[in-house]
Amino acid sequence: MTRKIGFVGMGIMGQPMAQNLLNKGNKVMVYNRTREKTDSLAQAGALVASTPAELANWSDVLIMMLTGPDAIDNMLFGATGILAAENPAHIIINMSTVSPAYTKYLNIALEEETIILIDAPVSGSKKPAEEGLLVVLASGPEEKVTELDPLFMALGKKVVYCGEAGLGSCMKMTINLLLSIMMEGLCEALNLGERCGLPAETILDTVLSGPLGCGLFNLKEPMLKSNDYPPQFPLKHMAKDLRFVMQTADEIGAATPLGHALFQLYRQGLGRDLGDMDFAAVKKVLDGMNDT
Ligand code: NAP
Repeated sequence: MTRKIGFVGMGIMGQPMAQNLLNKGNKVMVYNRTREKTDSLAQAGALVASTPAELANWSDVLIMMLTGPDAIDNMLFGATGILAAENPAHIIINMSTVSPAYTKYLNIALEEETIILIDAPVSGSKKPAEEGLLVVLASGPEEKVTELDPLFMALGKKVVYCGEAGLGSCMKMTINLLLSIMMEGLCEALNLGERCGLPAETILDTVLSGPLGCGLFNLKEPMLKSNDYPPQFPLKHMAKDLRFVMQTADEIGAATPLGHALFQLYRQGLGRDLGDMDFAAVKKVLDGMNDT
């Protein structure tokens, strides 16, 4: 039986993900706060809901790909929100990046409505989302995650089952801490080399030619060479995620000394109006900290 999949959040990630679900022959209905962002999906054959409640009534399974807790609360608990539906989808998959603590709260809130939460954030950015090559970090009841495997495989190349709801978000915290460190590490090294008088192109070519070359650095190379940072993963989202990482580390007593420093550094990016640029623009933060 073909499932009716509802998708809320037509941002950088949500649009290509919903498109991939359509491409695989699924019935898809979408909703976005800013309606114009649903236009391309509508042209591709998706239905468009006028309210989150309408989306929830129509759907068997509902996916959320939203900025974070405020957006999710708004879409769930608002006057025309998902939980205002008479007969809402009985499975909600949250693929947005949120903290494990928020996920646990969400799990309890949805359980009270007899809705099953699947906590399934993703590793991978705009390009893997477009190419259907995300890695899905799924948690929640294992039999439900297994049942949803065809849906996840329309979005990604791999599903990692992490355990009970909350552990998917824990995996996402783990991945994004590493991501923040790797990106800043490349930018800090580049900054040093440039201040020594080496051209950025030569430094990047050297890094990418040796054992340090990796998918992330290859992906960001054009941005760093051109010093232009169109958003794939916006810096404001990395700052948000590092806040959740710090909160999680504090709750469980994990040592994250670099994470603390990087939280401050990425936040400086917000103060410098770099939030809507890609998070590789942390290079601009470092440039601004150099002695003049
Ligand atoms: P985005 O382009 O900024 O899109 C955010 C979405 O959330 C939009 O649909 C936006 O609606 C909606 N939204 C924000 N605040 C809202 C509110 N108060 N009420 C209702 N809707 C609201 O973000 P994205 O890059 O697609 O990321 C989505 C999620 O995936 C985030 O949690 C992010 O951390 C995570 N993620 C992103 C990437 C990436 O590389 N971009 C990779 C992995 C995970 P409007 O269009 O109306 O503003």
